[in-house]
Amino acid sequence: MNDGNDLPERIRTVAGMQARTAAWRGAGAQVALVPTMGALHDGHLQLVRAAAAVADRVIVSIFVNPAQFAPTEDFAAYPRDEAADVARLAALGVDAVFAPAVAEIYPDGFATRVAVDGPALGLESDARPHFFGGVATVVAKLFIACAPDVAIFGEKDYQQLLVIRRMAADLGLPVAVVGHPTIRSADGLALSSRNAYLSPGERTTAPRLHAALQSAADAIRAGGDVAAALAAATSELEASGFAVDYVALRNAETLAVVADPRNEPLRLLVAARLGRTRLIDNIPV
Ligand code: AMP
Repeated sequence: MNDGNDLPERIRTVAGMQARTAAWRGAGAQVALVPTMGALHDGHLQLVRAAAAVADRVIVSIFVNPAQFAPTEDFAAYPRDEAADVARLAALGVDAVFAPAVAEIYPDGFATRVAVDGPALGLESDARPHFFGGVATVVAKLFIACAPDVAIFGEKDYQQLLVIRRMAADLGLPVAVVGHPTIRSADGLALSSRNAYLSPGERTTAPRLHAALQSAADAIRAGGDVAAALAAATSELEASGFAVDYVALRNAETLAVVADPRNEPLRLLVAARLGRTRLIDNIPV
């Protein structure tokens, strides 16, 4: 582990990253990866601390992945500040920042994509059909480039965590995929790089997303009717000015539609738009 006094090494090529991990492994080190798109906030930094707690060497990847943005989405506008990100990571003793250019990950003629099913179906995929294929493809490439023993993903993106865990199992990638609880502001809003898009008024309204999830979860835990609890959450959010994409109760391990809420692990998930910002959140029930 870098002692926090040095800037992490910045590595731009897959071959360079593979060589660095191979050297660490040769010396017997355990390696952890935290994949990010940069614009780092305290949620990301908690994932990095968790990585440092389980491994000898920590890699943070910073790559805004064009394959997971639709042409209408915010790829060009997505916040980028690599120098500030690297400075924040240095203070945590990160060993390497893997920050490849787009052409390093998607060379000319690139024609291969990971296709995902199971937990990738529905929810986010209904609004963003391109999304999980793009995520799975880049994460597979990051796993191959960084060859970590463990990779840490936030529960903030719960469906993504399950899609990646499933992909690693299905493809036999030798990486333990570990989830980390969502980090929130004191008012309940999940930290997200996209919160920067919220106007001051929207920022005041945004915590109602988490509050609506909590009320619905309480009602379901108390044995209330699931459909009624979800409908109440939707109306509450619409009354606050959100356009709701979904409020859904799913099996927490597979994301399958719930057959018997009393006998399954449950997760409540929401996606809603506030002005031009799309927010997602989820909690266990
Ligand atoms: P992103 O840069 O948004 O792609 O996020 C990179 C990683 O950080 C993903 O595994 C996210 O789930 C995770 N992450 C983002 N925000 C949070 C948060 N508020 N709490 C926990 N993990 C988060």
